[in-house]
Amino acid sequence: MSGIGQSIVVTSGKGGTGKTTCTAAIASCLAGLGRRVLVIDGDIGLRNLDLVLGMNEQVPFDYNDVIQGRCTLNDAIVSHRKIKRLSLLAAPMSIMPGDIEPQVFRAIMRAVKPFYDYVLIDCAAGLDTAFQLAAGAAESAILVANTELVSLRDAARTHQLLREMNITDCRLIINRLRPHQIKAGEAANIDEAMDIAGLPLLGLVPEDETVIACANHTTPLVLQGKTAAGLAFLNIAKRIDGQTVQLPKKIKSSPSRFVMPKKKD
Ligand code: ADP
Ligand code: MG
Repeated sequence: MSGIGQSIVVTSGKGGTGKTTCTAAIASCLAGLGRRVLVIDGDIGLRNLDLVLGMNEQVPFDYNDVIQGRCTLNDAIVSHRKIKRLSLLAAPMSIMPGDIEPQVFRAIMRAVKPFYDYVLIDCAAGLDTAFQLAAGAAESAILVANTELVSLRDAARTHQLLREMNITDCRLIINRLRPHQIKAGEAANIDEAMDIAGLPLLGLVPEDETVIACANHTTPLVLQGKTAAGLAFLNIAKRIDGQTVQLPKKIKSSPSRFVMPKKKD
């Protein structure tokens, strides 16, 4: 059915690039396209996917409660009240990522997969235990970067680690795109971004202040009506689901003033 695997880790290396935003919005759009979708918060100790989806009042249990036998997986998976076919499995707040065994996390993934068309894991920043845990349970990856050199180089490093974990289907979302910066050569243009990250492009998401307002009001972006970022996420969801959707016209740009990092083989 789809062009990408059924279990997808949304990652980046760097913090604050928009992983949680992308996970919530893409999952909501996939559900809107008729798919059954589960999102798992992989940010143990610092979860906020429940907030961005407006489900923070709705999650009495997390997956550590399941692991510790305090509830069943069914008790811990919560359906969204307003977005049909979308469910959330929340992360524990009071333990460390290293407290969860990778094989136990993988077993949770195996148990949930038959019931969903897509399972998206919102990964924590960094490349250590939490990343290994989340990526170790996924078949494919979405890397979220901005047009800043540090973010793109972190995406490249993350991609390298994913390949070493045999996750070969990895795609890039460039988030918080600011065309005026690209035109002025102050940010990487799309070709440069793909080149530095070394990844095929899944989609471009513009900087859109509605995203921040929605997060602050715990309103899912898809329930906000038509927004520029919302439309971009819908196109991304369609591509994930195997549809062909044209990318926006290239932004006319000068080459950025970055010193391009040297590539290692
Ligand atoms: P991460 O999960 O990678 O740490 P978040 O999804 O929490 O990143 O996003 C970091 C911040 O950037 C949040 O305040 C979020 O609302 C904001 N943000 C993310 N994407 C966009 C966008 N396209 N336009 C404007 N703000 C955005
Ligand atoms: Mg996050």
